[in-house]
Amino acid sequence: MKNFAYARGASAQQVVASLAAGDVAIIAGGTELLNWMRLGIAEPDRIVDIGGVQGLDRIVRDGDDLVIGALTNLNVIGEESLVGAHANALAQACLLAASAQVRNRATLGGNVLQKTRCAYFRSEAPLPWSCNKRNPGSGCAARHGINERHAIFGWTDACVAVQPSDPAVALACLDATAEVMGPNGSRTIKMTEFHLTQEEAAGIGGDAARLETRLLADELIVFYRIPIRADARSAYVKVRERASYEYALVSAAASVELDRDRIVSARIALGSVAQRPWRLPAAEVALTGQPPTQEAVTPIIDAAMSDARPLAHNAYKVRMARNAAVRALLTAAGQS
Ligand code: SF4
Repeated sequence: MKNFAYARGASAQQVVASLAAGDVAIIAGGTELLNWMRLGIAEPDRIVDIGGVQGLDRIVRDGDDLVIGALTNLNVIGEESLVGAHANALAQACLLAASAQVRNRATLGGNVLQKTRCAYFRSEAPLPWSCNKRNPGSGCAARHGINERHAIFGWTDACVAVQPSDPAVALACLDATAEVMGPNGSRTIKMTEFHLTQEEAAGIGGDAARLETRLLADELIVFYRIPIRADARSAYVKVRERASYEYALVSAAASVELDRDRIVSARIALGSVAQRPWRLPAAEVALTGQPPTQEAVTPIIDAAMSDARPLAHNAYKVRMARNAAVRALLTAAGQS
């Protein structure tokens, strides 16, 4: 591991100022950055520890919004009654992420910035295979290799990776926004747009395979804002190979508002199917006015999944994601 300078950030403003120096990595819980440094994915000259920055670990209601600081850890979010009452999908997603020990360290800000779990990518340098995310221009070993855990939406030949964050899926479903601070002030990024599909990254250019979010290198996530919909109920479903500690094969977050026995509005986001949480806007429209039953919901989700482009080894994800979406919808509607 390369030597680096270490400093503690005293305030969000000071941290943003320190990012201007370039080649600076931020550490909070440390559950991702240390892995990157061990594997040679990141080799920063300087690390700024934001763990002690005051005021970024609070959960408060602000008018019609729920506001969650970026330094709030996943267990605190999952167990906070305000989150359970107004953003249950997020509470469940946080408690289904990682292990209890990791959740006590992992922050919401860091969790949504985690990198893909692609095994070709998560290997110790120097890599014996091609990976455009690690070595731009080298190719993608997963494209025609072992790709059972990879994308079925939004991929390109340059990279077929998925974003593995559970909370990011819930945040996208709940129409959350991220407030980020940069050298020229603050801006808001919709969590439906925070992550980039590889198709979107290719449209931006440069080393597209490396692009994963719209957060700039000199910006810091400060908090998340989730609109409170008084009549909406939400749920998160995670499908994984073992319950104790595992990333999702697929996941789904759903939020539903009902008027007696009809759906008034619905929002659905799928996880681990693309490099960003994958909303199903056509299905959300089609669900309006439908009863929250398996018979009514399933064909609508099936139609939404017809755009999927599975790879050689992950066609199973299409049906699994469909089933997760149906289950999340019915659970949110109190029917499961
Ligand atoms: Fe690398 Fe992406 Fe291909 Fe995985 S899917 S090997 S991360 S380029």
